[in-house]
Amino acid sequence: MNELIALLFAIVYFGGPAVAWGYYWYTHLSEGENRQVLFWIVLIVMEITLFIILKSFSRKCPKCGKLNALKEIDRSNIGRSRTTIDEMKNIYNSKGEIVGSYDAPVPATIYTDKVHYQCRFCGFEKEQEKSYTRKD
Ligand SMILES: [Zn+2]
Repeated sequence: MNELIALLFAIVYFGGPAVAWGYYWYTHLSEGENRQVLFWIVLIVMEITLFIILKSFSRKCPKCGKLNALKEIDRSNIGRSRTTIDEMKNIYNSKGEIVGSYDAPVPATIYTDKVHYQCRFCGFEKEQEKSYTRKD
């Protein structure tokens, strides 16, 4: 399956039912608020579709070219460093009610993992470093 077919498949598979259902709703229940709800549902479905397409492209095998092919088979932590992230804190009055908020730095750690991927189709392997930040 080449990329263009995969892309068209994703659009038809995920977008088709959404459009059909949306059209049905639009013609049968199109009154005020329903149109707004429909707009949001279509938007969310499109976002999810886009996310799935981008995800499958990001897992493309560089050797055999198949989409959604790379699978994580191993992961090990190779480094960590100290940092801070901003966290929202509430300001309370004497009655204990929230009267405002501010951002305060809290300690966090940047983790670096070495991730080992393998292609599900041709067995191609590659290693990639991935970093993420977690609050302590
Ligand atoms: Zn492959």
